[in-house]
Amino acid sequence: MKIGILGAGQLGRMLALSGYSLNHQFGFSGNATDDPAALLGHMFVKKNNPNNIDSLVKFADVITFESENTDVGIVKKINKKIPVYPNEKSLFTTQHRGREKTLFNHLNIPCAPYQMVNSKEDLQVAVETIGLPAILKTATEGYDGKGQFLIHKVSQITKAWKSMNGVESILEEFVNFKRELSLIAVRGIDNDHKYYPLVENTHYDSILRLTIAPAQNIDKKVQETARHYMQILLDEMDYVGTLTIELFETENGLVVNEMAPRVHNSGHWSIEGANTSQFENHIRAITGMPLGDTTPTHPFCAMINIIGQLKDIDVVLKMPNAHLHLYDKSERKNRKLGHINITANSQTELEDSIAKLKDFLPK
Ligand code: AMP
Repeated sequence: MKIGILGAGQLGRMLALSGYSLNHQFGFSGNATDDPAALLGHMFVKKNNPNNIDSLVKFADVITFESENTDVGIVKKINKKIPVYPNEKSLFTTQHRGREKTLFNHLNIPCAPYQMVNSKEDLQVAVETIGLPAILKTATEGYDGKGQFLIHKVSQITKAWKSMNGVESILEEFVNFKRELSLIAVRGIDNDHKYYPLVENTHYDSILRLTIAPAQNIDKKVQETARHYMQILLDEMDYVGTLTIELFETENGLVVNEMAPRVHNSGHWSIEGANTSQFENHIRAITGMPLGDTTPTHPFCAMINIIGQLKDIDVVLKMPNAHLHLYDKSERKNRKLGHINITANSQTELEDSIAKLKDFLPK
């Protein structure tokens, strides 16, 4: 099939890389001819072609997107001509933190108490209701900790609201978590569901740096609970494709933070670490192919993000159990340039491998 992707970043690039072996072809709508996915298919660039989305739709049999910030109006328009997966409802829900949390509450999925905020006065009331510390976030378009303000004291309210630049926001109770986890799953057009194991994520400066897959010392009940949340979300949204849920592990169980209607950075380990990667499974799902097995290929896997600077990548290339994935991006502070996947047969092998790659991790 011909697959059109709205966006041409590293997620689009890795989706295409996984889809060519299934005989699919790819087109992208992007910003520039040097976007990470640009050389992997037909590139429809807005600057050169104001009707680039129409051209992409003419090219494609099915459309998907690589960002939750995709315009719902555009998806609605495209869907009158060809299918878009995940569907418009899933995109509409997951791109707004308030709508997302309304759905969590409706499905009895635990999430932090919250209140929507549209003014400084709203924020004052929300702080009184929710208490401090609390996190103020923009309702839409936040990523990697952007558009967030951690409020410790009432005296910070004015500054916090100012930092939101007047956009609709949400105040959330600060969750005292032990670990950050995520769960990735995929649902097919035929309602088949496949789940990857829960993974553990470590952030630095709000950017994901390290994923351990599967997360170690996870109680079977916790894994089952996370799967249950995922299953009811997939079914409620009639979701097709790969969905990610970010969770906090707390003393009192799991608390869901947010969802992403797409393949996710915390699932990049699955390229070498699972029988079928999150990328290939997304492509299989949206093209109506049978979903692939999600079992890990090794008992211990890890993913290290390469952020800002490439560093000495030869170190990675010399390791038998490390796999380098670069995104064809130039170096820039805090930019995701690539990642390294590690596969291991023991905890010691995993820890030794991560130690060899310590230059790629923050001190
Ligand atoms: P988010 O954009 O919602 O994924 O938030 C970015 C990061 O901020 C998360 O990975 C957490 O480390 C932290 N964070 C977000 N929300 C909360 C919360 N309610 N309580 C504690 N930490 C949070």
